[in-house]
Amino acid sequence: MSAMNYCPQCGAPLRERLVDQVPRKACVVEDCAFVHWDNPTPVVMALVQIGERFVLARNAAWPQGMFSVIAGFLERGETPDQAVLREVAEELGLRGEDAVFINHYSLFSRNQLLLAYWVRASGTLTINEELAEALLLDRGELENYDFGPLDIPADIVRRCLARQA
Ligand SMILES: [Zn+2]
Repeated sequence: MSAMNYCPQCGAPLRERLVDQVPRKACVVEDCAFVHWDNPTPVVMALVQIGERFVLARNAAWPQGMFSVIAGFLERGETPDQAVLREVAEELGLRGEDAVFINHYSLFSRNQLLLAYWVRASGTLTINEELAEALLLDRGELENYDFGPLDIPADIVRRCLARQA
């Protein structure tokens, strides 16, 4: 649920009311009419491949042993394809050569729309401060990697490997 409690247009409190039969947080000021639609935020994710190996990364805020594909938010004016290549450059220091769309996922618990890509990249792997460590796995290691409770990266990997086969 959204933590927004005050109107970003006039500063008055937001209260829940029905808008077209759906409960929404809306501004109490009649003339303002602001409605907090709370639309999902798009997030790009990428399984990155360098030569014959694949990158999994552990976010700096995550516990030991938890690895996933990389992810990041779109910035204003970016297409998802541009955003995912920028994330590959920023987080891994790599030049992405192409971004192949793999699948979308609705992560309702975080109000996010995940857009997953397979990105072939080149360069020297250099993680930034958002990441604690990275793994480089060959195809067999990736096929057998146990993502534990992270079922979305597991599905992205399965779909990428099926496309690559
Ligand atoms: Zn308002």
